Amino acid sequence: MTRIYIALGANLSNPKETFKAALSLLENRAVSVKRVSGLWQSPSWPPGQGHPDYLNGAAEVEFDGSAKELLTILMDVEAVLGRERAERNAPRTLDLDILDFKGEIHKSGRLTLPHPRMLERGFVLFPLDQLNPEWTDPVSGLPILHFIARLEQDDVAAMKYVGTLI
Ligand code: ATP
Ligand code: CA
Ligand code: CA
Repeated sequence: MTRIYIALGANLSNPKETFKAALSLLENRAVSVKRVSGLWQSPSWPPGQGHPDYLNGAAEVEFDGSAKELLTILMDVEAVLGRERAERNAPRTLDLDILDFKGEIHKSGRLTLPHPRMLERGFVLFPLDQLNPEWTDPVSGLPILHFIARLEQDDVAAMKYVGTLI
């Protein structure tokens, strides 16, 4: 395993097609996609805004550069696929986050590793658990199941598994 995990999210246009296009653009930019998780659909957050549901998944990738270089590539792919950076939590055609980069712990203006909000998000933990049930949080050392067990039950109940990308 490479221990480089990326989160995929989208709630506009055709998320599945966007994910496929994103993965192929990543391959063109020296990011080799090893495995892709199944996909989950969940209500957009914060609730009650009337925005379309999200589709989320995760991918394990191989990349020879640094985490910052990978982030630059992810943002470039988001831009190519039409993401306009609007306000926080706004609907988007594509959101690509680095969840874990080889277990690195890092905090700067541009990049925090592991992803700072991943442990509270079922739509991140479920796909990651599918890719690697042995995953542990680099900061606390705790296993992924510890965090899955702590998720809000209402949020989990609102998530729907919708199968694989292809
Ligand atoms: P969230 O970070 O809560 O998932 P978001 O993905 O909607 O929210 P964005 O607007 O896509 O937020 O990104 C905001 C900034 O987060 C980016 O400009 C990027 O520099 C920064 N960032 C920090 N850590 C990471 C990371 N691990 N992966 C992706 N972006 C990160
Ligand atoms: Ca995000
Ligand atoms: Ca993001």
